[in-house]
Amino acid sequence: MLNSNIHARIDGPLVMVGFGSIGKGSLPLILRHLDVARDRIVIIDPDDSGSGIAAFAGIRFEKVALQPDTLRPILSPLLAPGGFLVNLSVGVSSVALVELCREHGVLYLDTCIEPPPGGYTDPTKSMSERSNYALRESALALRREQADPTAVIAHGANPGLVSHLVKRALLHLAGGQASPRNREEWSRLARDLGVKGIHIAERDTQRASIPKEKDEFVNTWSIDGFLSEGLQPSELGWGTHEKQLPPEGARHTFGCDAAIYLKRPGAGTRVRTWTPLAGSIQGYLITHNESISIADYLTLRNGEHVVYRPTCHYAYHPCDDAILSLHELQGNAFRTQSRWRLMNDEIVDGIDELGVLLYGHAKNAYWYGSQLSIEETRRLAPYQNATGLQVTAAVLAGMVWALENPRRGVVEADDLDSERVLSIMEPYLGRLTGAYTDWTPLEGRSGLFPEDIDPSDPWQFRNVVVR
Ligand code: NAD
Repeated sequence: MLNSNIHARIDGPLVMVGFGSIGKGSLPLILRHLDVARDRIVIIDPDDSGSGIAAFAGIRFEKVALQPDTLRPILSPLLAPGGFLVNLSVGVSSVALVELCREHGVLYLDTCIEPPPGGYTDPTKSMSERSNYALRESALALRREQADPTAVIAHGANPGLVSHLVKRALLHLAGGQASPRNREEWSRLARDLGVKGIHIAERDTQRASIPKEKDEFVNTWSIDGFLSEGLQPSELGWGTHEKQLPPEGARHTFGCDAAIYLKRPGAGTRVRTWTPLAGSIQGYLITHNESISIADYLTLRNGEHVVYRPTCHYAYHPCDDAILSLHELQGNAFRTQSRWRLMNDEIVDGIDELGVLLYGHAKNAYWYGSQLSIEETRRLAPYQNATGLQVTAAVLAGMVWALENPRRGVVEADDLDSERVLSIMEPYLGRLTGAYTDWTPLEGRSGLFPEDIDPSDPWQFRNVVVR
């Protein structure tokens, strides 16, 4: 019998690949809520800045960089049926690890589909071939008819948590009059409610006692990860209500066709959005897996013909020091700064307000999400800031779901039981709240550059993107 604090048991070994900000924050939650023998946990990372944390918890730490050719010989002896591999690295291929885990009967989870090293910048590939869209297609291609060990891909805060928030928000909009049981019923509900699109609308207000210095990139989570995705072309799920492809927009010629890409980097593409505490803001349209997976999941077809799909994209207002860092980056023609700093102990105040804004329906727009402060984060869990805890709680919840559903093959957040996942995450999300708003991307813009505006529908992407 598991005690009430323990959600599930790992019978085999647990291997953690990558022990940066998310790895360090995930470990205490795993030890708190999963029944796993500490002497069967191994952490692998070439950077040993977390070896003290591992030693303090009585856990083995291997200072090793996994490479495509060393991954199998290093990991195979560590894996065994009933075990779990959690990939929280930057730069170790998710597809390669899912295949290896499948061979060994091991469960898998990551928070982002990681490409092989250099995957985002491979000059032999077209922009479309090195997109997140293509990466997602390559991971979904691992799906088979047979009951493989569960591999939960892209289950952090976003991607991850936000897919569950979308479902909750749809239920709220339906006023308790709906109980969808499968993908088609969710997409039908979104269509019937008239949801034209979804922003993953985030405002991070965490501030540090140390100001950003010249030639320094500062952020509240992986700078490596942020720079890598920020320098990629923007990508967004492309809804059926959109009248016109943006001038710099392009479609893919393969796969599910739920998304488009823009021939400009996300770190240079701003979009208008809204969150309850911040109000009207401009965020960055950074490419993210959930923009594609949510739009794909909510696509309604009549035979081959797509009859409904919401537009879906990230609208990320990072912390103020990250904004300054991005400004400096743009000034340097996207040449990255020589020093990086991930803010943690020096944070003095602020919250991460992360949610989903469902727009274009009869009640205009509805935001639902987590408002988590740094103070509450520090009361709840060690080694992380508010941004991190929204991710690490999702790592825990995704692991629990996989342990409870061990033969489901490759799954995305959208495929999971959202209410079960949220029940595990909720103690760590601060205030989980919803708010209606009459804000639209046309607010306050009368008279300003009228040629940029399509007045016939405020929710056209043309009105959302900042030109
Ligand atoms: P981080 O940069 O702090 O840590 C990444 C770690 O990976 C580093 O410690 C690094 O040394 C290690 N690593 C690099 N190369 C390696 C290799 N070859 N073998 C083993 N380890 C290697 O990043 P983070 O903030 O902890 O993020 C980790 C992952 O989580 C990234 O993929 C990031 O994109 C993702 N992430 C997802 C979300 C989400 O909400 N879904 C949020 C934040 C981060």
